[in-house]
Amino acid sequence: MYELIVETSFSAAHNLRGYNGACENLHGHNWKVEVRVISNELDRVGMVIDFKRLKGETNKIIEALDHKYLNEVPPFDRENATAENISRLIHTKLKESLSPAIKVARVTVWESENAAAAYYE
Ligand SMILES: [Zn+2]
Repeated sequence: MYELIVETSFSAAHNLRGYNGACENLHGHNWKVEVRVISNELDRVGMVIDFKRLKGETNKIIEALDHKYLNEVPPFDRENATAENISRLIHTKLKESLSPAIKVARVTVWESENAAAAYYE
């Protein structure tokens, strides 16, 4: 198998509902997003997918979150914008935008330099 990794980031504010602690107050993060895709097929050029396109597809999803108050952005108007839920959202949307030959192996969302959550199927 081939595995490709791209990183991107976004900045956004949120506050956690039903959470007892500092994170129930409005605050922001610079979220780092790492996307890993796998495939056993290469195109004629010798790529799983152009890094530029993979990053572009990821950024299209992230555009909806960047510089936003996440609690107002669906689905985070109903569920908390935790690193866990953000990673699942990006995974689901990225899967829809890529060809079936390319599997989204894992999406990792870093909330700080030393804390991350990942989603994979
Ligand atoms: Zn937070």
